[in-house]
Amino acid sequence: MSANIRIVLVNTTHPGNIGGVARAMKNMNFSELHLVAPKKFPHTNADARASGATDLLESAVVHETLEQAIADCQLVVGTSARGRHIPWPVVDPRELASIVEPISADKKIAVVFGREDRGLTNEELHLCHHHVHIPSNPDFSSLNLAAAVQVITYELRMAELYVDENRDIRPQWGTEWDIDLAESADLERLFAHMEEALTDIEFLDPENPRQLMPRLRRLYLRAMPDKVEVNVLRGILTATQKQTKK
Ligand code: SAH
Repeated sequence: MSANIRIVLVNTTHPGNIGGVARAMKNMNFSELHLVAPKKFPHTNADARASGATDLLESAVVHETLEQAIADCQLVVGTSARGRHIPWPVVDPRELASIVEPISADKKIAVVFGREDRGLTNEELHLCHHHVHIPSNPDFSSLNLAAAVQVITYELRMAELYVDENRDIRPQWGTEWDIDLAESADLERLFAHMEEALTDIEFLDPENPRQLMPRLRRLYLRAMPDKVEVNVLRGILTATQKQTKK
């Protein structure tokens, strides 16, 4: 399963942590490391902490934005050490493994990790279908970045090694039918189009957008639309915009 699962680190400050993540990943048989605007990389501290996993650092893909790092992924999971303003579907690492294990053979999946000091921004978390929280001590909830990657990749590996026939695994809807799940880039184009059309029809006030787009994102991401469904929705938006221009 690990071949289709990408670990994405956003804006990491300490290169040593990037090395620690590479080591944690390689221990659990993961190899696809993507970095979004790391502060210092490559770096000798990264190599030192990676120990024998420097091959993952050498093959790591560096991006400027998170959107680019996940553009081709069909399931995007964001990690968070604490609750956020708008609740999102949250799973623990074991539940995540149950969701990922049945679909990982042919779907591209990203698990996204945040900055050491302040995690992922709300905007970054709103790019994700699910959030995963390691149920740590509520009074001391934040793990070291590499430790968090270790816990999550360990659960993913356990799910792969010990597939339990009796476990209640429900394959994610949209993964077993004729049309393939939309990729993150398709969904981002849909959300940009939706924001534009809702502004055109004066449903969305750009001066006072409130939480409209995050709420619509949560709704559509929860539905896991396929590529044709996204095209239909965009067709409806285009037709709506045409009516306003008559
Ligand atoms: N102070 C930050 C925590 C950053 S810890 C905050 O409040 O969000 C750095 C990263 O490690 C987080 O962005 C997340 O990717 C991961 N992480 C740390 N603790 C975690 C936890 N309990 N559950 C899930 N991810 C966690």
